[in-house]
Amino acid sequence: MMKRVYTSATPMMAGFLKDVLENAGIHCILKNYFLSGGTGELPINETWPELWVQAEHETCALAIIRMTLEAQANAPDWTCPNCNERIEGQFQTCWNCGYTTDAT
Ligand SMILES: [Zn+2]
Repeated sequence: MMKRVYTSATPMMAGFLKDVLENAGIHCILKNYFLSGGTGELPINETWPELWVQAEHETCALAIIRMTLEAQANAPDWTCPNCNERIEGQFQTCWNCGYTTDAT
């Protein structure tokens, strides 16, 4: 039995959290996941990306998602040591050169 643990109008965020959960050893499934062409139109609620996990992992997955979102909201901006680009705190990868922090 699967449980829905996350819904977001932002496909990138759902995809990111899927990676976080998979890295934590929690298998999860993304539903309604597709990257739009960037028209600026938000999909209607029913088609938002959803993250589903096995019911036995629901509590753990919710805790990880909450911690991840809080950490992102509180993360300070950082300067890429590779190319000196200023990167916003919620990103762990330099958009300019692809450098990735190992914060997790
Ligand atoms: Zn960089």
